[in-house]
Amino acid sequence: MARPVDGIRTTCPYCGVGCGLIVQGHDAPDDGDPPVTVRGDPAHPANLGRLCSKGAALGETLGPEGRLLYPEIGGQRVPWNTALDHVASGLRAVIERYGPDAVAFYVSGQILTEDYYVANKLMKGFIGSGNIDTNSRLCMSTPVAAQIAAFGADGVPGSYADLELADLVVLAGSNLAWTHPVLFQRLQAARARRPGLRVVVVDPRRTATAEAADLHLPLAPGTDAWLFNGLLHHLRREDRLDLGFLERHTEGFAATLEAARATAGSIPETAIACGLEPADVATFFRWFAATERTVTAFSQGINQSDSGVAKVAAILNVHLATGRIGRAGMGPFSLTGQPNAMGGREVGGLATQLAAHMRLDDPAARDRVRRFWKAPAVAGAPGLKAVDLFRAVEDGRIKALWIIGTNPLFSLPEAARFEKALADCPLVVVSDCVRATETTRLAHVLLPAAAWGEKDGTVTNSERCISRQRAFLPPPGETRPDWWILTQVAQRLGFAEAFPYRSPAEIFREHARLSAFENHGERAFDLGALADLDAAAYQDLGPVQWPLPAGEALRGTPRLYADGRFFTPGGRARLVPVTPQGPTEALDAQLPLRLNTGRLRDQWHSMTRTGRAPRLSTHEPEPFVALAPGDAVALGLQRGDLAEVRSRQGRIFARVRFAPEQRPGQVFVPMHWSRPFATAGRVNALVAARTDPISGQPAFKHAAVSVQPAAMRWHAFVLSRHPVNLPGADYRVTVSGIGHRRDELAGRGPPPDWARWAKAVGAEDSEGPQEWLEFADPAGGRYRAALLREGRLLFTMFAGPGPALPERAWLEGLFAAETLSEPERAALLSGRAPGGPSLPSRTICACFAVSDDRIRKTIDELGLTSCDAVGQHLQAGTNCGSCRPEIEALLRQAGLVPAPRAGAV
Ligand code: SF4
Repeated sequence: MARPVDGIRTTCPYCGVGCGLIVQGHDAPDDGDPPVTVRGDPAHPANLGRLCSKGAALGETLGPEGRLLYPEIGGQRVPWNTALDHVASGLRAVIERYGPDAVAFYVSGQILTEDYYVANKLMKGFIGSGNIDTNSRLCMSTPVAAQIAAFGADGVPGSYADLELADLVVLAGSNLAWTHPVLFQRLQAARARRPGLRVVVVDPRRTATAEAADLHLPLAPGTDAWLFNGLLHHLRREDRLDLGFLERHTEGFAATLEAARATAGSIPETAIACGLEPADVATFFRWFAATERTVTAFSQGINQSDSGVAKVAAILNVHLATGRIGRAGMGPFSLTGQPNAMGGREVGGLATQLAAHMRLDDPAARDRVRRFWKAPAVAGAPGLKAVDLFRAVEDGRIKALWIIGTNPLFSLPEAARFEKALADCPLVVVSDCVRATETTRLAHVLLPAAAWGEKDGTVTNSERCISRQRAFLPPPGETRPDWWILTQVAQRLGFAEAFPYRSPAEIFREHARLSAFENHGERAFDLGALADLDAAAYQDLGPVQWPLPAGEALRGTPRLYADGRFFTPGGRARLVPVTPQGPTEALDAQLPLRLNTGRLRDQWHSMTRTGRAPRLSTHEPEPFVALAPGDAVALGLQRGDLAEVRSRQGRIFARVRFAPEQRPGQVFVPMHWSRPFATAGRVNALVAARTDPISGQPAFKHAAVSVQPAAMRWHAFVLSRHPVNLPGADYRVTVSGIGHRRDELAGRGPPPDWARWAKAVGAEDSEGPQEWLEFADPAGGRYRAALLREGRLLFTMFAGPGPALPERAWLEGLFAAETLSEPERAALLSGRAPGGPSLPSRTICACFAVSDDRIRKTIDELGLTSCDAVGQHLQAGTNCGSCRPEIEALLRQAGLVPAPRAGAV
């Protein structure tokens, strides 16, 4: 690998916090060493030098393994020209025969703004259809719809600094500690500086974030709108509204208050509607009423609902009614999930938007964009939203689909149903940087895309801050940036004049010019000051928050609506009456449990990148289903069993987790395990394709499921230095380890002939004399084996009739050694470290591989009372800080630090 340039400033490719990074290259890295190290950029306003565990491990995720490196048609490698000609002629044939609405693009919050811009321009301006939608539909289309309705613009009012400046931060449907870890670190640091800063968490689960809160409101799933309607009603009763602000700057208050009054009632009534303690509701309402500087930050727990727009509206209503918006330390705050969900919104990546935040259903905007682009035909109407788009593939309306930078057959609801639809689609083109995903399997044409670190462009984070992603590695194989691929296809479709791009800087300039075109302050999104950036200035562009109108210095705009002026036709914000509605999918005797899906601390999306970093796999190596202990026992489940989680749409297998943080009747399953990492862990596929009627966002938080023992007849795990041919299994999970990989297996049929299989694995290795260790108990269904060469462990496996197999941690650690000691060799097949039992433990600090067991022991032995003290003794929590909430929870469990100050935590 060529030596990358040193000291490159770029942006993290994971979550919507959008942390700045500095990448440092290394000369000729040793085999297995990362080619770069990554540290937080102290000058970036999003993170000020901080990183979470995912960002800190980015250097370990680079490399050509698993990459799609060459164009393919029908599984055969072809030259780029052949692939591009094939795509263009295929699209043209469908358009000519069936019209422009028979083609669609499905893109991603992972791609860069410049990529998005070209894709959107091609579809909406030149193909002439609105059918381009994005996987961001699945995570933040709900706040887009609600913000446009309330503010007249999709503009987040505040900045991250407002969470630090607030006196009360309400986190609704957000496990900030895990999903936006650096923002959580900033919040915690602010609390340490100002103990008066209170945090309230509104979430059915007692998450790591809720553990650290002053008050946790574990409301019943889907009842958020009752809570915020109740709050509005309470604020009116207590005379805590800003009537002057309402009078001068808003409309719709009377009807909104009436709707709140009709549905919310008193505090006890609100508490009953939400399944909360009245005292906790009263505390929350009292704090909110008394605290001018209040931020309400919300995320997927609010958005991923079939009434999500109403929930966001209920949050926006309380901020507008109290005038708490656009000023320091206050405002509603939508936290985006993906690294460039905001950038995609800015260029019109959603089927409902046009470009530069202009609307497709606005004839004047269509005409303006048509003239700017010199386009033959701008789409006349909004296109199909993600789920509807795949329904159109299913019923044959869409005959050609180009999927860019995303794996919808992993992430969509009812993915199994849409898998069949895609298999029947006449033309499926997939641009991706990964070779083997659920979706690439069904592609007729595969186009290899450059990945993070190999391409240039911009992204926009949750606080409207545009940052550069910069290339620091040469693109491997024949990979190309997405903007280049799209430009090539556009030229082949006959639009060369409108798609002359040779660099992302040219595209960005055009995007900035469009945002300022005939924009006299009526549109919030304005990058006029960046419209003339030359290549050098684009290369050097530092992070900056829009709006950036022409003629203004590049200071950026930390807050919108500070002057009480909104982007509605009358300049007034609109309060929207909210009639709350619970989850529309009912529970019944067959499906009695409410499934909540979500993210883990150390994984990102389908794990294609994070799943390759061994240290990120130690925190949660397998998919799990978290149940209230009472529910688990009633269902006949033991800790560590495999369970089958079923819905009307299908089933997955997951490891049983007894979780006191779950309320009875609710279960949680993480979203990350795609097919390369697990054969049966695709949890989104369990969710019905029910969507919010306005935003089209699916209800990933509220599926109806059952959980039962998985009835596996055998269980096994295999640790090996190199991938081995595994026996067929109903359950397989692959985990990256240091110097090895681990495969967890289980089956419902008769167990394999393990001895024969193990010998076949040994026969694959022919490099030198082997030493076999073996233990067989055929009557008991148990088998253990290990293969060594000159004292070096190459492979080991343990199989039995139940899930109670030895702890993996000690055995996995043996792969770090060049040779085993004699005691280790002797103890190998016992699965236990010499001289002591191997206790079940879980890695808490991924950076320094510190387990909960070790932290507990150290806390007990030394009487430690703070996270910092734990860090001094064990290093845990001293690098990225992502594990600090869990260390704090262990301190609380030890009873050596006080519980949170109030409420239900
Ligand atoms: Fe990346 Fe972590 Fe920052 Fe998110 S919080 S942008 S994942 S470093």
